[in-house]
Amino acid sequence: MKVCILGDGLTSLALAKALVNKGISTDLFLSDNNKKQDKSRTLGISKSNIEFFNKNILNIEKLLWDINKIEIYSENLNNRKIIDFNNNYKRLFSIIKNHELNKYLVSQLKKNKFFKFKKKINSFEIIKKKYQLIVNCDKNNKITKKFFYRKFKKDYKSYAYTTIIEHKKISKNNVATQTFTKKGPIAFLPISKKETSVVYSIKGDQKIKIDELIRKFNIKYKIVKINRINCFKLQSSNLRSYYNKNILAFGDLLHTIHPLAGQGFNMSIRDIKSLMKIIDYKISLGLNLDSSICEEFENKTKHTNYIFSNGVDFVYELFNIENNINNDLSAKFIEFFANNKISNKFFIKLADEGIVI
Ligand SMILES: Cc1cc2nc3c(=O)[nH]c(=O)nc-3n(C[C@H](O)[C@H](O)[C@H](O)COP(=O)(O)OP(=O)(O)OC[C@H]3O[C@@H](n4cnc5c(N)ncnc54)[C@H](O)[C@@H]3O)c2cc1C
Repeated sequence: MKVCILGDGLTSLALAKALVNKGISTDLFLSDNNKKQDKSRTLGISKSNIEFFNKNILNIEKLLWDINKIEIYSENLNNRKIIDFNNNYKRLFSIIKNHELNKYLVSQLKKNKFFKFKKKINSFEIIKKKYQLIVNCDKNNKITKKFFYRKFKKDYKSYAYTTIIEHKKISKNNVATQTFTKKGPIAFLPISKKETSVVYSIKGDQKIKIDELIRKFNIKYKIVKINRINCFKLQSSNLRSYYNKNILAFGDLLHTIHPLAGQGFNMSIRDIKSLMKIIDYKISLGLNLDSSICEEFENKTKHTNYIFSNGVDFVYELFNIENNINNDLSAKFIEFFANNKISNKFFIKLADEGIVI
C-alpha cells in the first residue's frame, strides 16, 4: 500500500510524517517552483493542534514560543483595547518559525524507512496507477490545473507584509496584539524575549512605508531592528470539489483564508486529523487505502471548512465596512459581543478546535 504526496510545503511534510508514523509507505514529490525559505514567516498554532501534532506527527515543543493572552485594538476607537482573550495565563496558542518547522520535518522524514523524497514527476498517468492514494498539496502542477481549478474565490485586493522585529529584551513577551487599523489588521506575534513577528495586511498596492507603520502601531517594544519585509497578495479560496477519483486536494490548495485569524495551517492540521481518523478506521478493518477515503474526507470536512473560512471572512468584512463608511459601529459591536463571558469563551474554543460537530 503506497501513498503519494505532491508538493513540499508544510502541509505535505506534516501529512507525510503522520502517514509514515503509521508505517504507511509514502513518496513525496517536490514542487516544481522551488521557493527559497522565507525567514520572515511565522505560524500561530492552536493549543489543541499542538497536542495533536506532538502526539501524531512530531514533537515540536522545543520550537514553540507560547502566547497566553491576545489583545485586540481598534484604530477607529483611538487605538483603544476592545477585546482580551486569555486562558488564565496558560498557553492559548504558540508561535513557530516556518523555516524551522520545515527543516525539522525534513530531517526527521529523511531518517524514516517508509519515506522517500522524489524529484520529478515524469508522467501523471503512471503516478495515478502506481499509487492507491494521491494527496495533492501543490497549487501549480498539471493535476491541479486539470482537476482542481473550480473554486469559490475572493481577491482581498490586499497585500500581507511580514517581518521580524528585533527589540530590547522583554522578560515576559507572551502577549500577542492585533490592531484593526484603517488600512487593515496588524499583528505583533512574539517569538522570543527579543524578537516579535509582524504581519500587516494592507488594502491596495500603493507604495507604503511599512517600517513607519510598524513603528506607529507598535505600543510596547523598543525596536532595535526591523528585518527584511516580505510582501505577497492575499486571497481566499475554497475548492468546489475536494477530489477526483483517487486524487485528493489538500492544504492551502483546498482552502486559503485571510491571515488575520492565523488559522490557515490550523485548518490543515485539523484536516490531517480527520484524514488520519478515516485511514486508521480502514486499517483497523483490514481495508485498502483507496479512493473511498477521498469521498469520506470530503463528506466529513467540506461543510465545516467552508463555514469556518466564511467566518474569518466575516470578521474581516466587519472591520472593512467600518473603515469604508468611516464610523466605529462594528468595533463597538465586536467589543460588546466578544467581551461577554460566554461568547469570549466560545471564540477561544473556536480558534483552538475549529468547528466541532
Ligand atoms: C501572512 C500569512 C500569515 C499566516 N499566519 C498563519 C498563522 O499564524 N497560523 C496558521 O495556521 N496559518 C497561517 N497562515 C497560513 C499558512 O501560511 C499556510 O496555511 C501554510 O503555509 C501551509 O501551506 P501549505 O503547505 O498548505 O501550502 P504551500 O505549498 O506552503 O503554499 C501555500 C502558499 O500560499 C500562501 N498563502 C496562505 N494563505 C494565503 C492567502 N490568504 N493569500 C495568499 N497566499 C496565501 C502561503 O503563505 C504559502 O506560501 C498564514 C498565511 C499568510 C499568508
